[in-house]
Amino acid sequence: MSEGVRTRLWIGNEWADAEGGRTFATVNPATEEVIAEVAEARAAEIDRAVAAARAAFRDGSWRRMNPHKRSRLLWKLADLVEAHADELGLTETRDNGKPYFEARRIDVPSVAQTLRYYAGLADKVQGDTVPVPGPFLNYTLREPLGVVGAIIPWNFPLSMAAWKVAPALACGNTVVLKPAEQTPLTALRFGELAAEAGFPPGVLNVVPGFGETAGAALVRHPGVDAISFTGSTGVGRIIMREAAATLKKVSLELGGKSPNIVFADADLGVAVKGASMGVFYGKGEVCAAGSRILVERAVHDEFVDGLKGLAAKATVGDPMAPTTRLGAIVSEEQLDRVMGYVEAGRRDGAKVVAGGERVKVNGRGNFVTATVFSGVDPAMTIAREEIFGPVAAVIPFDDVDDAVAKANDSLYGLAAGVWTRDIGKAHRLAAEIDAGTVWINTYNQYAPGSPFGGYKESGFGRDLGFQSALEKYTHLKSVWVALDR
Ligand code: NAP
Ligand code: MG
Repeated sequence: MSEGVRTRLWIGNEWADAEGGRTFATVNPATEEVIAEVAEARAAEIDRAVAAARAAFRDGSWRRMNPHKRSRLLWKLADLVEAHADELGLTETRDNGKPYFEARRIDVPSVAQTLRYYAGLADKVQGDTVPVPGPFLNYTLREPLGVVGAIIPWNFPLSMAAWKVAPALACGNTVVLKPAEQTPLTALRFGELAAEAGFPPGVLNVVPGFGETAGAALVRHPGVDAISFTGSTGVGRIIMREAAATLKKVSLELGGKSPNIVFADADLGVAVKGASMGVFYGKGEVCAAGSRILVERAVHDEFVDGLKGLAAKATVGDPMAPTTRLGAIVSEEQLDRVMGYVEAGRRDGAKVVAGGERVKVNGRGNFVTATVFSGVDPAMTIAREEIFGPVAAVIPFDDVDDAVAKANDSLYGLAAGVWTRDIGKAHRLAAEIDAGTVWINTYNQYAPGSPFGGYKESGFGRDLGFQSALEKYTHLKSVWVALDR
């Protein structure tokens, strides 16, 4: 086991075993080796974590802490994340399979940035005074919700943890975090670093386990006030149903099948690069992946040629090698799903113009080459369902109206890209596309201040952002005072 690998449950700033010493294995998908046996939380351990979070909320050690101090602690945690960036990046790479340079240069710095952004929110959780008729003073207070249950996926394990934990804590809530079963390790270390920064016991608890047991127990728990979830649309539906019993506040950041729309008047070279990055970045295991590439017919063939060339250059390899662009798919199960979609595309009559092959690196691991389908009909499975792998479906369109219609012909509405030099067209598309984020002549841009989340079956609620964080993680209380008695 390497330095930094933590394997027990993190509850009340202490390491704890699960009942009976129960554990599960976490695997390096690039080597198929077991990295660690991790303590497995189920209902009893979730109970303990919620009790710790509840106590920390009740005793006021966190929510009543001087907000400047709360802010400093979040900032301190950011410093510690940076100080351990190599270790965290390495652990993330080994657990998830993503290239080390991505984990180290993109994921970990973004975690520090997110923490610092929300450090700046901690002393700005404020209400308004409201003009009301009569001899009354009315004002609003923004109060923390209480215990927030955060349930996150495996694609950006530490970033997703920061997206949930930082705003929830800044607003004065305490948190029970359940990382994905495939990638629990960096979240555990994050909990430990928070204690080192000086967070009181119970403010942040980390409980790895499976969705059906640990996740479900968190969602059902009457001591949890809100669930902040990122994951698949299918599980989002279950969570919404299960949360109804206790009427918890839920926010759901779900899947996508995002259109990336290339007009003939775009700088085609730039658009091809942007589309390639949009669908292949992070092995395509990105909720906002631009996996439906809509291309104006006049430039379709030239675009497909260009994308084919870039797909061939997306080197599949050892995640530790600096030349690697596509690391290992997170698990064998996920790779089987991706390959199932590649088969479905072939069967439905789409043409594989690049990739489509399952490969091993040094004789092992779950890898697939960057895949491009052309001749895709919008009704095909590969044009409708989220694949969550490096698979692009290229679909031609005729004009602006056709582009908008095709872009919106999806149950999802997470993100979209538009490539054009026509500023009017760009803004028209930005307004007409049903998606939480629209990128114009760029793709996959994120910043802590810019809200991120979905329309339609991509869910509701927003991660990141300022106002959106206040709305998500605080109650708005109205106070009336009679002024004439
Ligand atoms: P997933 O299967 O939905 O799992 C997400 C999390 O939910 C995991 O921690 C999982 O635990 C847990 N879970 C599963 N069943 C549960 C249940 N019945 N009750 C409570 N929790 C449960 O998703 P995934 O495969 O890890 O991640 C991929 C999905 O996430 C994609 O659809 C992607 O689009 C989406 N995503 C969305 C965003 C966004 O911001 N919109 C960002 C990233 C990813 P286990 O690990 O044990 O299954
Ligand atoms: Mg793993």
